[in-house]
Amino acid sequence: MTDYVAGRHFLQTPGPTNVPDRVLRAMDHHAINHRGPEFGQLGLTVIGKLRQIFRTDGIVAIFPSSGTGAWEAALVNTLAAGDRVLIARTGQFSHLWEDMARRHGLDVQTMETDWRRGADPEQIANILKEDSDHRIKAVFVVHSETSTSCMSDVPAVRAALDKTNHPALLMVDAISSLACVDYRHDEWRVDVTIAGSQKGLMVPPGLSFTAIGPKALAAAEKNKTPRGYWEWAPYVASNKTGFFPYTPAMHLFYALNAALDMLLEEGLPNVFARHDRYAEATRRAVRAWGLELQCADPRAYAPGVTAILMPEGHNADNLRNVILEKFNMALGNGLGRIDGKVFRIGHMGDLGVLQLAGVLAGVEMGLRVAGVPHRPGGAQAAMDYLAGNA
Ligand SMILES: *Cc1c(COP(=O)(O)O)cnc(C)c1O
Repeated sequence: MTDYVAGRHFLQTPGPTNVPDRVLRAMDHHAINHRGPEFGQLGLTVIGKLRQIFRTDGIVAIFPSSGTGAWEAALVNTLAAGDRVLIARTGQFSHLWEDMARRHGLDVQTMETDWRRGADPEQIANILKEDSDHRIKAVFVVHSETSTSCMSDVPAVRAALDKTNHPALLMVDAISSLACVDYRHDEWRVDVTIAGSQKGLMVPPGLSFTAIGPKALAAAEKNKTPRGYWEWAPYVASNKTGFFPYTPAMHLFYALNAALDMLLEEGLPNVFARHDRYAEATRRAVRAWGLELQCADPRAYAPGVTAILMPEGHNADNLRNVILEKFNMALGNGLGRIDGKVFRIGHMGDLGVLQLAGVLAGVEMGLRVAGVPHRPGGAQAAMDYLAGNA
């Protein structure tokens, strides 16, 4: 699309998400000395606010990377080639972590799912119980599987580790759940939590966040795996000084500071309730259209994204292309083995109720234009729900 298109583009991918004007304006700032006092103060300020989001009193590392970089850092800091790790194949992102773990020479033990629910804590407990010589060094869980819109129950996984007295580290990918749903790094005794700037946190892509618990820090101190750029230690020090070992992405820090203020001003319980309301409205629209949700377990519905199955014989990418061309809205595609079969509506981050109504109206018009069999009235069903909850 080279010609001018009137009105705002609707970016409804589950990351990157809409960047609020206030966050954009905060980035419009001259560069400063990243070793000077102003930056040190900014560094400490954002780390303090991030702790409130992660619900931790501990370390939060900020790498200039996407979320994937933080995962690599977690692996090389705490684990060594040959270590066994346990991961549930809940969707495409769990596969990507598995693939990365294999490339680092880790011995990956997997659990299958049908990509329509979260990881099964009972299955995890059974595997841990059998692992009596504690060969498993870490359990990986993707909190919100952005490819399937299914959540895994992190406290239940923690309970599986506890009831089997298993010492494995618990590592959680909260990239698409942090700031969308209640998350408690300390209370749930998660050892490593990974997040990224471009999803619920409403910041442009380019920063990753890692909450690191004491057990993971101790593992990192003992671990001999070579690492350079991804070494955690200078980031642990940054939590005391606000200064970073290499040039930080300072403009993103200004953006982050503004975004964290917005989240804390709205109030985290309100932010979470808003995401729940939007997700429920979206699911009501899907059901009214007569389409099927990818997530088959109502206890596992993700608050930030909804993955929707296409009727047999219809391609999701064709629908997405029609919606982009006709209505200037970008939706998420199906990933991995559900490529073409699923489209995803992102409803996380900075989104108003009328924007959501517009999103669902756009999808409904797209279904009609693309000739996808459906019943009209999904957007209306969402509006009825949203009006009742106004
Ligand atoms: C987006 C996403 C990732 C990938 O993060 P990048 O920032 O693209 O590296 C990983 N896991 C989940 C659950 C995600 O939603």
